[in-house]
Amino acid sequence: MSASPLETPRKIIHIDMDCFYAAIEVRDHPELADKPVAVGGRSSRRGVLTTCNYEARKFGCHSAMPTFKALERCPDLIVLPVRFDAYRAESKRIRAIFKRFTELIEPLSLDEAYLDVSHWRSSGYAVAQEIRREIRETTGLTASAGIACNKLLAKIASDWNKPDGQYEVSPEGVANFMTSLPVRRLWGVGRKTAQRLANLGIETCGDLQKHPLTELHRFFGKFGAELYHLSRGIDSRPVQPSRERKSVSNERTYPEDVKSFTEGIPKLQELWQELCEDLEAYHAHRRIKSAFIKLKFNDFRHTTVERQTGTPEWAIYETLFEEGWERAGERHVRLIGAGVRFQVSEDSRDRATQLTLFED
Ligand SMILES: [Mg+2]
Repeated sequence: MSASPLETPRKIIHIDMDCFYAAIEVRDHPELADKPVAVGGRSSRRGVLTTCNYEARKFGCHSAMPTFKALERCPDLIVLPVRFDAYRAESKRIRAIFKRFTELIEPLSLDEAYLDVSHWRSSGYAVAQEIRREIRETTGLTASAGIACNKLLAKIASDWNKPDGQYEVSPEGVANFMTSLPVRRLWGVGRKTAQRLANLGIETCGDLQKHPLTELHRFFGKFGAELYHLSRGIDSRPVQPSRERKSVSNERTYPEDVKSFTEGIPKLQELWQELCEDLEAYHAHRRIKSAFIKLKFNDFRHTTVERQTGTPEWAIYETLFEEGWERAGERHVRLIGAGVRFQVSEDSRDRATQLTLFED
């Protein structure tokens, strides 16, 4: 799974816009500069913040927080309605900038993407600086970047000097970087897993590295093997441009287990909505083959329910969710995912070949 030492390390950049939606609102409403601003649902009971700016975060507000709670912490908080059209338009402009640097772009959402710039002679660090400068000049918005030899490390690193900064984990620095990294920062480790690891005396990736693969497998099943590699900073997943992707999905691990079908429905609906937005923004030209949902239970097992369809309507997801929930039995759900699989056409296979040539 690890790259051989003779192989040239890849140059992967993770770009993450700084509180994207809120930043766009402040840019478009200059009178809001320096004020705590959030974007989200404003209804008093069910509304939640989609995002908020750094002024609001100083008061302890954060995304996914119920709006009424945020207003308790910060009574002057300005909560604006979500304007996805505006965010999508901005996201398009940013993607056009990415395209000047590489063909290998994997968008994660409207404001986040992985870029593989291995073909550049300049350092990944210098390329990231240039991309961020162009984003700022074109859109008036700031981005942060992480630079590393793989997606796992690049994503963690983009958080390091946020906002408006960048951080590089050099290939020689990986071992050192991982030793002190809290396990919570690893992909897939939520509060519950972190707690289970803490019970075993594991707080950092360095602690995790002391445990053999067989033992981690015994405790965590398949995920244990993943932990074994992730804790060493090993991640060989390629940057996958959207047109090569076989599927796209959104999933979320919840801080509190989801205990019932009715409790899960609004969560699924949120995921489905985001999925539709991503499909429209990035995959509008793709033909959909099927819809699926994924559930991970509190015993770490998971299940997927899938159905053939060309249109990912809400009703289908609701049915799939019902079917998935029947498999839960006594168990609670810690992760919900919603996604689609695409038709793989001759055309996209040709393009994939072209990309491989380009990469060389
Ligand atoms: Mg962001």
